[in-house]
Amino acid sequence: MALDLKQGISKQITKINMKTSTFLEENKIKTYIATLETDIHDLKMKAGETGYAMWSAGKFDVAQIESFYREIAVKQRQIQEQEQQMRELIMKNQQVLGQNSAEAAPPPVTPAAAPAGNAVFCPKCGEACAPTVNFCKRCGNKLR
Ligand SMILES: [Zn+2]
Repeated sequence: MALDLKQGISKQITKINMKTSTFLEENKIKTYIATLETDIHDLKMKAGETGYAMWSAGKFDVAQIESFYREIAVKQRQIQEQEQQMRELIMKNQQVLGQNSAEAAPPPVTPAAAPAGNAVFCPKCGEACAPTVNFCKRCGNKLR
């Protein structure tokens, strides 16, 4: 029995760790994408300023502008790669956690799911409980 409990707990911890690591991984990707977007914005600004400066000076060098554009293109590809990674991460996570989703996260019990008509509403939290129970299933408040 103690072993079952231990296994159950370690299973839950694995799931929590998985959720946490997915969350951290997702945040890391989001931060990276945001950085790339900022870089792209800066490069566009620089390309524009450089282009204008060269044009004003009467020496417009297309190659120099193109080097900015190439850098932008590289970063845009990196963003796409990151977004793809994010999709894969979410899919992988759903597959693993989905197997035991009912056990991992019981569906929230809404008042509508309680026996209609004769439900007893908890005075403390408003949860609809079966009329046969002594304590609220949500907050544990004594019902009678
Ligand atoms: Zn309650």
